[in-house]
Amino acid sequence: MIPTEVLEQARAELLDWHRGMSVLETSHRDKAFIAMTEAVTDKVRTLLAVPDNYRVLFMQGGASLQFAAAPLNLLGDKSAMDYVYTGLWGKKAILDAKRYGEVRIAYSAESNQFTSIEPVEQWALNEAAAYLHYTPNETVHGVEFHEIPEVGAVPLVGDFSSTILSRPLDVSKHALIYAGAQKNIGPSGLTMVIVDEQYLGHALDICPAYLNYQNIANSHSLYNTPPTFSFYLIDLVLDWLEKQGGVAAIEDVNKRKSAKLYECLDQSDFFSNPVVPKYRSRMNVPFFLADASQEARFLEQAEANGLMNLAGHRALGGMRASIYNSMPEEGVDALCAFMTEFERRL
Ligand code: PMP
Repeated sequence: MIPTEVLEQARAELLDWHRGMSVLETSHRDKAFIAMTEAVTDKVRTLLAVPDNYRVLFMQGGASLQFAAAPLNLLGDKSAMDYVYTGLWGKKAILDAKRYGEVRIAYSAESNQFTSIEPVEQWALNEAAAYLHYTPNETVHGVEFHEIPEVGAVPLVGDFSSTILSRPLDVSKHALIYAGAQKNIGPSGLTMVIVDEQYLGHALDICPAYLNYQNIANSHSLYNTPPTFSFYLIDLVLDWLEKQGGVAAIEDVNKRKSAKLYECLDQSDFFSNPVVPKYRSRMNVPFFLADASQEARFLEQAEANGLMNLAGHRALGGMRASIYNSMPEEGVDALCAFMTEFERRL
């Protein structure tokens, strides 16, 4: 979802964003556009309290392309990388990293079917690894780290796609953070990268120019033509988030929304969520029906009640409620009320 007031502002400005032109018609070399992209970067810095020695970049290719960009920029003269496998997206990151060096799985949650995460003391860390990559929130399995893992001296890399801006974040504990925009940052089209400056300038020779963070930093994220409309909408979404009180305030709302939904699932005999409570995601809540033959009916009736996009990811089946920042609390209330009524009528 994108906040309605953001969409309304975009609608009002669609034909005339600046000097009689739509933002869709504006050159990325236009002064007003450049100023807007700089404002976006500043807003991210403020919202996430990004330390001065980090660069905030915007790139294309989605978080998926960062699966390759991370090793290409951070592997340097080392040969091994540690990966933590806690769900489907971690797996995709592993498969791409394997093209560039030796990937060691420091921890895999495959044996518990991605419903829990063992403490970091039980991981097999490799001190010689170029970095350790983890997925703070597994979007499909609905498993979230509620604390940043303490991995010692090894630089930490996080795919924050589905949790960024949902809560305060200690950027300084990471060498690299990346996140596709299309969950909490804005629409699809851009990927946010926050990288410690010391990792700039060490990309492998085979790294394409566009994936080299140094090039993106030097060009202030305007190395090539960006999706101008995405940048613009991100600017509006960040203003909206600021108006909500920033990430600490939205965290309170997110805690409340997710607690309500899990409570509704836990007290039901018909719906269930398999994730160990300590690791349940505040953003993505997968759930299953005791009688899977009711799934189609559940989805059909949910849609008739205005509750859209509840089908689970094809890899997992079942249902999934994604309750990102812009989902109002009333949306969760409506879902809980619908589920209770659906179960009552069985
Ligand atoms: N990582 C995570 C955690 C995701 O949730 C997603 C998308 N759902 C991706 C990576 C891939 O993102 P993109 O579609 O931007 O490539």
